[in-house]
Amino acid sequence: MHDVIIIGAGAAGLSAAFWCDELGLDTLVLEQAEQIGGQLHRVYNPINNYLGLKTHNGHELLEHFSADVEDAGFDLWTGVEIESIDLRAKRISLRSGERLQSIAIVIATGVSPRRLNIPGEREFAGKGMIESATRDKDSFAGQDVCVVGGGDAAVENALLLAEVCPTVTVVHRGKKLRARREFVERLQPNHAVTVFTESVLTRIIGDERVEAVEIIRKDGLKPFQLAVRGVLIRIGVEPNTDLFLEQLELDQQGYVAVTREQETNVPMVFACGDVSNPLAPTISGATGAGATAAKVIAQRLNAQRTHA
Ligand SMILES: Cc1cc2nc3c(=O)[nH]c(=O)nc-3n(C[C@H](O)[C@H](O)[C@H](O)COP(=O)(O)OP(=O)(O)OC[C@H]3O[C@@H](n4cnc5c(N)ncnc54)[C@H](O)[C@@H]3O)c2cc1C
Repeated sequence: MHDVIIIGAGAAGLSAAFWCDELGLDTLVLEQAEQIGGQLHRVYNPINNYLGLKTHNGHELLEHFSADVEDAGFDLWTGVEIESIDLRAKRISLRSGERLQSIAIVIATGVSPRRLNIPGEREFAGKGMIESATRDKDSFAGQDVCVVGGGDAAVENALLLAEVCPTVTVVHRGKKLRARREFVERLQPNHAVTVFTESVLTRIIGDERVEAVEIIRKDGLKPFQLAVRGVLIRIGVEPNTDLFLEQLELDQQGYVAVTREQETNVPMVFACGDVSNPLAPTISGATGAGATAAKVIAQRLNAQRTHA
């Protein structure tokens, strides 16, 4: 029996664990990946907005987190697959056969990039699919590329790629780009960039690696193929809640609904970080929410133990 089981070891889960440990709670963290850190592994840009610490990228920030985690006393299991979970009973079964029980659960499972789910998307991973313009632009220098999406992340990546690629085609299904004005204004005079609005990517084509994409424009024209060597998809994210569906109240966008104590509709089940924060997902928001959850759990358990 643990006091707290935390699911997910990104910024939110690690912060919750760190605080739980500091507050004297018996804490176990379950992480499905082989490594801790979550999205920090995908942050290739400098992090200048985490108060008190500037780092060149997410990996460097994670090194700081890891140093603190190593010194802390909580248990951390990576590469774990949760087979089933009963939130009300606080019981978790792992694929490996272990059965776990706790008094409180913290859900810190974050978000995953939304996929197009079109042919070629998975097959060409590492063979022309661009994960990040910051990281990959030198490898695609001199090549024609396509960016899917119309928000800040898509347009920012398109601008970076346009510094080194002869053509960058932005494909966006909406009528207008949603990105902030300063990005769109920089995009318009850029001769390398063409924007197809009201258009969708339907296929990524190639043999050994990406050679073309198929696009359908909603203006009634037939699908057409565009020769490109790289494709970057930035169409938002979705919360990782599959494990808890049917057991938890979610908001309209599918994020876990929480109180200001970070508690879900199930007593003693908390959620923190991006999985419960559609409005302003940030590292500081995630670590702050993790701390709140830990402090509330400690107060409740201390009160119960004092009265017992
Ligand atoms: C490219 C990029 C740039 C960014 N730049 C900044 C920035 O400059 N400043 C800033 O503040 N924020 C930035 N962010 C956002 C920031 O990285 C996130 O807000 C923050 O890392 C979220 O942390 P989290 O712990 O909530 O979720 P995540 O980092 O998503 O971690 C969730 C963890 O839960 C694990 N998990 C999921 N499901 C399960 C399961 N069933 N069982 C066990 N484990 C599970 C995942 O493997 C993962 O490790 C950026 C994000 C990206 C992608």
